[in-house]
Amino acid sequence: MLFDDLEHALAELDRTRLRRRRRVLDSPAGPRVTVDGRQLLSFCGNDYLGLAADSDLVLALAEGARQWGAGSAASHLLGGHLRPHEALEQRLAAFLGMPRALTFATGYMANLAVAPALVGRGDEIFADRLNHASLIDAALLSRAGHRRYPHNDWAALERLLAASTARRKLILTDGVFSMDGDVAPLDRLFALAERFDAWLVVDDAHGFGVLGAQGRGVLSHFGLPASPRLVLMGTLGKAAGVGGAFVAGDERVIEWLISRARSYIFSTAAPPALAAALQKSVDLIEAGDDRRRQLQDLITRLREGLAPLAAQRGWRLADSATAIQPVIVGDNRSALELSAHLERQGIWVPAIRPPTVPEGSSRLRISLSAAHGAADVDALLAALRTMPPTQPETAH
Ligand SMILES: *Cc1c(COP(=O)(O)O)cnc(C)c1O
Repeated sequence: MLFDDLEHALAELDRTRLRRRRRVLDSPAGPRVTVDGRQLLSFCGNDYLGLAADSDLVLALAEGARQWGAGSAASHLLGGHLRPHEALEQRLAAFLGMPRALTFATGYMANLAVAPALVGRGDEIFADRLNHASLIDAALLSRAGHRRYPHNDWAALERLLAASTARRKLILTDGVFSMDGDVAPLDRLFALAERFDAWLVVDDAHGFGVLGAQGRGVLSHFGLPASPRLVLMGTLGKAAGVGGAFVAGDERVIEWLISRARSYIFSTAAPPALAAALQKSVDLIEAGDDRRRQLQDLITRLREGLAPLAAQRGWRLADSATAIQPVIVGDNRSALELSAHLERQGIWVPAIRPPTVPEGSSRLRISLSAAHGAADVDALLAALRTMPPTQPETAH
């Protein structure tokens, strides 16, 4: 009975082209990867500055392991908080210009920590409809009311806030949206947070290292004033090239998380070598204007090439000025066919399907890195131009 249900559900995933399959890389992550014995030009990664394979960073990781060992052996509160963890928090807080920072093993865990620690039953969370899955799960875990507003629609958010009688309110949003690449209107959201006395929690997984002065992220991009109601989460496995995440904010917020956030307290601290390497990542990010300029040039080149092609094929492009450049084709089959067409030409761009994106908005998610060259972008555009037009999928 249990297994009949599972087999039926898996078959249904196959029928609707929603079964997920993993590919094994036989090379380090980067613009050129080896898969099934073949080299592919990859536009999959979130390694926006090309740090994941940077030789200085790899050395810092190896030296960190030599000096501090392989594992941290305990949770942060019970003997697993080593000097590199502490130094990384201080480096991140200073870099971001925030009072305190707290590191986590992953961004998913960092997000699960914040909302449930700040609000609960009887309170309300106001969340963008396209927020990352980890923010949705955090809202559910908090037991607060979960009001979702249309994507980036701050006027709709204003109406929800004005109508709310909740004691505590929390606005929850991606800074850069992970599947669309567009940026949340944080100046507007911050003004609303001030007016309605709400927390503003921003997930900057895709802005940290890339946007703002020296890569300080989306808050710097908007020039928002320092405010205790702002809580910033960022990941360290994307532009920072290693893994992990941080939450930065007011002293009292961080102290509360240390004492109350369950995903922080009940989990082994990340290996100290990662924290040692991540201090080097922050140095490389801070000094990374050349890498950010290269990335920006590639974004412009790709968008200029995509615009006429999309118009001709009926593909939709997102309003994105960031490294995430989706080509929205609509149905699952078209997205998979386009991805397969590129792969036959040695180019790997993942097809993204529901539930990661809303029904009917399946897409290729092109992700650029400073480690790509202009010729790589040109190769991608040339391969896209050879795609034969597809018919929309008919009903099953
Ligand atoms: C990747 C991502 C996360 C999760 O971070 P991990 O460190 O990969 O767990 C959270 N939020 C957003 C918007 C992301 O893109």
